[in-house]
Amino acid sequence: MKSKANKTDIKVPDKKGYFGEFGGKFIPETISSCLNELESAYAKAKQSKKFKKELDSYLREYAGRPTPLYFAKKLSKYFKLKVYLKREDLLHTGAHKINNSLGQAFLAKFMGKERIIAETGAGQHGVAVATIASLLDFKCDIYMGQEDIERQSMNVFRMKVLGARVIAVRSGSKTLKDACNEAFRDWVTNVRNTYYLLGSVVGPHPYPMIVRDFQLVIGREARLQILKKEGKLPDCLVACVGGGSNAIGLFYPFFKDKKVKFIGVEAAGFGLNSYNSASLTKGELGVFQGSKSYVLQDKFGQIKNAHSIAPGLDYPGVGPEHAFYKSIKRAEYVTVNDSQAIEGFKLLSELEGIIPALESSHAIYYLQKIAKDNKGCTALVCLSGRGDKDLDIIREYTEKSNTKNKISK
Ligand SMILES: *Cc1c(COP(=O)(O)O)cnc(C)c1O
Repeated sequence: MKSKANKTDIKVPDKKGYFGEFGGKFIPETISSCLNELESAYAKAKQSKKFKKELDSYLREYAGRPTPLYFAKKLSKYFKLKVYLKREDLLHTGAHKINNSLGQAFLAKFMGKERIIAETGAGQHGVAVATIASLLDFKCDIYMGQEDIERQSMNVFRMKVLGARVIAVRSGSKTLKDACNEAFRDWVTNVRNTYYLLGSVVGPHPYPMIVRDFQLVIGREARLQILKKEGKLPDCLVACVGGGSNAIGLFYPFFKDKKVKFIGVEAAGFGLNSYNSASLTKGELGVFQGSKSYVLQDKFGQIKNAHSIAPGLDYPGVGPEHAFYKSIKRAEYVTVNDSQAIEGFKLLSELEGIIPALESSHAIYYLQKIAKDNKGCTALVCLSGRGDKDLDIIREYTEKSNTKNKISK
């Protein structure tokens, strides 16, 4: 029996993994059989009542679902809007990433795998994977660029505490994309017992679909919650976009509600006229990590290194489903830069006693823009994570700008 919420679903991707002209599988032949195995196992798991029941129970009892939909009274007054926050920051490990890790880890179990591998940039996905691997008794190897290891020593330590092995990648630019390549190489070699757990709605089919399906619990809950509280749907949904998983998880169950506007907020990085992490706003059509979408590239078609103060938005690509929503004008994508994100961070901390992740702070800041054009409207924001992990960055930023101010005086 289908639940009521399923009526809102749309049918993308198609059988070949395309969202309109985006997505697909652009991969070497060697990965093809790994992906086919994954695809058919996922189709079976989706039909299994036992799979769903077990996952639901862990989402509830272990991760902390459903998360509250909180009416932010003071923030609302400040912006002259009605602001609701979907509190993914209250989940175990402090962000929405655990929804996906739990879902895919249960899929790995369903497939009889014993080992999970993943790649991580800032380390947040690595921590979510290491957490679930510990819980469900998987051997766990996390690939991470040497540069990222040095920048994110706390998350590296966290993964080790949880029993995972962190493998340093010293090739290429020693960051996320190199870690991805290594993880794929490992997968092809060890697919018999190994599951590759991807962290966002990116990569070749079926990953963008699988990760979305495990994240759309955000939007399903939010839709029921807002209907209960307001008696109607919100005017707009706002979420930050790195790879795009928390945003698509929120948007997707509202797809057919044409009056609900979708706003995806990308990171513009440092400076007023920069678009350092804004793949949808400033990227070009290209193939990156096995799928067709918008990518940040230089004039020679080389992938650029993304830059944002928010570690989780530091990604040069974006999920193909967002590219599709943009192309059919179902969603609007905008940018917020580093200093604006800090403003959003301070605002929510000071007004509501909620310290948001720097990623989510991009979405909070954008409310200011919405307030200008649409006074009094109801905005539902995905608060994708909590900000404890970012306090060092905030302190460093504040000290730096204090010094600058003193010098200029
Ligand atoms: C990783 C992360 C993001 C960005 O990832 P998406 O796939 O775009 O959701 C956003 N917010 C937080 C708190 C994160 O940890």
